[in-house]
Amino acid sequence: MLMMAILPARLSGEPDPLQKYRSILWDHLVALCDIGPRYPGSDGHVKTRAYIRQVAERHADSWKEQAFVARVGYADELPLYNYELTFNGTGDKPPILLGAHYDTRPFADEETDPQKEGQPIIGANDGGSGTAVLLALAEYFDENPPERTVKLVFFDGEDWGRKGSDEYFLGATYYAEQLKKEDPSTWPARALVVDMVGQKDLKIFKEQYSFRSSPSFIETVFDTAEDLGVKEFVPMLRYSVRDDHLPFIHMKIPSVLLIDFDYSYWHTLEDTLDKCSADSMLAVLRVVVETVRRV
Ligand SMILES: [Zn+2]
Repeated sequence: MLMMAILPARLSGEPDPLQKYRSILWDHLVALCDIGPRYPGSDGHVKTRAYIRQVAERHADSWKEQAFVARVGYADELPLYNYELTFNGTGDKPPILLGAHYDTRPFADEETDPQKEGQPIIGANDGGSGTAVLLALAEYFDENPPERTVKLVFFDGEDWGRKGSDEYFLGATYYAEQLKKEDPSTWPARALVVDMVGQKDLKIFKEQYSFRSSPSFIETVFDTAEDLGVKEFVPMLRYSVRDDHLPFIHMKIPSVLLIDFDYSYWHTLEDTLDKCSADSMLAVLRVVVETVRRV
């Protein structure tokens, strides 16, 4: 009975209820890439925020914009905006946070050609794919209300900082600072962050900060992937990646980052749609949806 319950639909011969999200994911990613670079202060950033708000209006039970000004080295005052979409749980367990950054890098500083390194990236995978997964999840949780309240949080300012600076994950840091002012009983019980999950031949290894801080949560995530037969998840340790999950780890909230950091187009002008795959994003969506059910 238990085995039946966890068999992936595509192996059991049942119609696969998640298959329709393949094109939903892809359409979102195409739309984001069509907007162009989406770094704070750009036209694309304004358009992306409107796009997220539109999805929020259509699908979320409630949502809010968290506007703030970051004080950073090379732009003094940087207006940033997080978005939190809430899907009310049918039970009364504390919420789970699912997060991704929607901003893209303002400069392609991994380019070796000095002509290119100052140009903003499209960020199909870095900035695009995680956002597309969250946007598709909004539709999913609208149609399939979760037992545990889900907060989809679109973080701003993850990729703003110059190399070597500490001006990364500005949005997640601010969101966590605000959370600290609230009663801890209202904090999310888990935080699951997705970033760079769209590349072809996706391989997601266990990220080290997640593993060290949240061993049982990361085990649940990778066990879920294994039970679902999602081969894109490889239950081995690999990189340490400083990302939007760190502020939540500091709050002792079990937090996991899902990322494939083996991406040769990272922070270059070549991080474009043709490097991405709908199947990769769908694999991640499957594991996220089932993980939310299990925790
Ligand atoms: Zn990045």
